[in-house]
Amino acid sequence: MKPFSVFSLQHAEDLSQVASFKHSRFLAGGTNLVDLMKHQIERPDHIIDLSGFDEANQITEDDGRVVIGAMVTNTALADYAYKHPRLSLLAQALLAGATVQLRNRASTAGNLLQRTRCYYFYDTSKACNKREPGSGCAAKEGFNRIHAILGTSEHCIATHPSDMATAMVALDARVHICNAAGVRRELPVRELYTLPGDTPHVETQLADDDLITAVSIDTVPRGTHIYQKVRDRSSYAFALVSVACTLRVNEGVIDEVSLALGGVAPRPWHAHQAEACLLGNPPSPELFAQAAEAELKDARSYGGNDYKVPVLRRTLTHVLNQASDHQRAHPSHEGAMYAR
Ligand code: SF4
Repeated sequence: MKPFSVFSLQHAEDLSQVASFKHSRFLAGGTNLVDLMKHQIERPDHIIDLSGFDEANQITEDDGRVVIGAMVTNTALADYAYKHPRLSLLAQALLAGATVQLRNRASTAGNLLQRTRCYYFYDTSKACNKREPGSGCAAKEGFNRIHAILGTSEHCIATHPSDMATAMVALDARVHICNAAGVRRELPVRELYTLPGDTPHVETQLADDDLITAVSIDTVPRGTHIYQKVRDRSSYAFALVSVACTLRVNEGVIDEVSLALGGVAPRPWHAHQAEACLLGNPPSPELFAQAAEAELKDARSYGGNDYKVPVLRRTLTHVLNQASDHQRAHPSHEGAMYAR
């Protein structure tokens, strides 16, 4: 591993002290960054250690707004969400991710900012535009079973691996950011990530000195909440396809719906075309099939991942049918439904 210096950040205000650092990386739980450093994919000169950033270790709730500190572990957040009457979607997604050991270390902000698990990104003997801009993309003609079918470009077809981020997109969560000049701002998670285009090494809207200090969920959507993950094994596997869904039926029509897709795009995919198809209409299997087609009409697969198109279609329609059935059976129910 390349030598690096370590600066311990205690408060967001201390960011000004690291403003002059070139080639630095924030270290939270380290469950992804340390691996990337061992593989020589990340080679920072400076590590800004966040383990003493205590103010980012709290979850608070005020007037319905839940604010989750950036350093809150996935375990602590899953525990909080599991007990919360209306954060079932987040609990389901977190508990579907990784393993207990990883969730004990992984942080909320780190989960959002984890890098792709594309095999070729981690293999420095292979071409990868994300690791080395301009070198090519070995995945396009290679083993691309886990790769994306939506939002890809000719330069990169990698997926974003996070379950939690997919739920955060469905919940329309916001990231709270502070930079080295002390300027604070908020950004919807739906706008945090950029698509690869011709710059796949650029993955978010964040500048080098932007630190995520918290994530908030301002208004939890009403209705039934389901997170369904399709994967190779029942634990410790990334999503091949996942669907985060909140749906409410009122007076016979869908009056609230939020959909995000995981494992199929370079970012957690906000399925707004499917939402537009559903909103204001009576729920039915035919409508759900139309909604899936609306979202999938621009899908493109690359051989090894051809199966993802029908799997996503079936998973999305299955989840919508489940949510609709649950609403019919429990018309006044708000929040949780735990899917298998
Ligand atoms: Fe690299 Fe993206 Fe191609 Fe994977 S899909 S090899 S991350 S450029």
